Amino acid sequence: MESKQFDVVIVGGGIIGSSIAYYLAKENRKVAILEADKIGGKSTSAAAGMLGAHSEYKEFKHLYPFARSSQLLYKQLYEEIRELTAIDFEKRNGGLLKLVYSENEKKELESILSLSSVEWLDNKEARKRVPQLSKEVMGAAYLQEDVHITPLIACNSLSKGAQLFGAEIYEYTRVLAVSKTGMEYSIKTAQGTFLAKNVVIASGVWSNYFFQQLGLSHEIIPVKGECVAAINEGAPLRYAVFHDQFYIVPRNNNELIIGATKKWNDWSENPSLDGLEEVIQKAKKMIPEVGEMKWTRAWAGLRPQTYDGHPYIGEHPEMKGLYFATGHQRNGILLAPATGKMIRDLIIGTPVEKEWLDAFKVERNIFAYG
Ligand code: FAD
Repeated sequence: MESKQFDVVIVGGGIIGSSIAYYLAKENRKVAILEADKIGGKSTSAAAGMLGAHSEYKEFKHLYPFARSSQLLYKQLYEEIRELTAIDFEKRNGGLLKLVYSENEKKELESILSLSSVEWLDNKEARKRVPQLSKEVMGAAYLQEDVHITPLIACNSLSKGAQLFGAEIYEYTRVLAVSKTGMEYSIKTAQGTFLAKNVVIASGVWSNYFFQQLGLSHEIIPVKGECVAAINEGAPLRYAVFHDQFYIVPRNNNELIIGATKKWNDWSENPSLDGLEEVIQKAKKMIPEVGEMKWTRAWAGLRPQTYDGHPYIGEHPEMKGLYFATGHQRNGILLAPATGKMIRDLIIGTPVEKEWLDAFKVERNIFAYG
């Protein structure tokens, strides 16, 4: 069989690979996504979909500006994708209430409360917005811009958009090896070999396989997150609520996404009863009536974590044309547009912010570990 030839082959069709495909295909690059399973079927489909640029970061140096730029890109992308594909990825305005139960907790939020886009709500104001809140809640930081989307729909719409710009999507096509022959990469799969000038590894926690295969000792650690969903038959929840990295996120169909645990280096993709019990307890502390709701489903996903919490977005230190875009841990949905745009710019040669190049470059591991 003759090998198919592309400008860029992307290994992995989660939200990161799909976003990269979208931005590159839009620039007329001949792109393919090779996905071992179904588009968006792994970590992406497990996510709650919060675009938490403010709620997630305590340092405002590297990740926050990148995250904020991605959050802003979503505004534009939402309209653009809806027009192009007729898919609505359910961007819900309203934002998020980061709950506070004590003066000490309020103090910890000082840096985000100093941002002009963030508002302090006392107990009464918080309850006006979310009448279901527990009486224990002292107040909340209102993060109006930290809206949420439905991640699997967003991922599918990005890959569909990429397809409409000419990209080819190959599901159930596991990549077995990537190697360089002359100026070109050879990407071996059970369904045949693909050829490409550039390759992007966007395989989430499974990127470890390619780090090793391509001579690097980098490691992505899975941080398992367990979630449960319930149907809210009472007054609709208009905002996501968040405390201590646990949350309740409403979907358009009145389903509430209740998550999530953080289990370091746990590779199993099934939720445990202990994990589900923990998220339900945390949710009840925020909204007690959750305990009476009817559950609909439960699941788990693996967040791709790097040693320093920054993703790897950049070129292999020795192999030109080979890129990594992985390790977005608990913020891959939020960071997908900025990552897609950054990899596009690296491949087509458009300048990228130097701060981001340095903060996310692949070889920083080598420096850190000597
Ligand atoms: P994945 O979605 O895992 O995609 C990688 C793909 O690569 C997979 O589809 C896999 O099948 C494929 N693959 C692997 N090996 C190969 C191979 N050899 N050949 C071909 N394909 C391969 N982020 C947010 O921003 N907001 C949230 O609210 C949020 N909530 C979360 C809640 C939970 C419970 C979890 C688990 C995660 C959450 N995240 C959230 C994080 C987010 O889901 C991830 O950061 C993001 O999905 C990572 O995307 P990815 O494309 O890198 O990985």
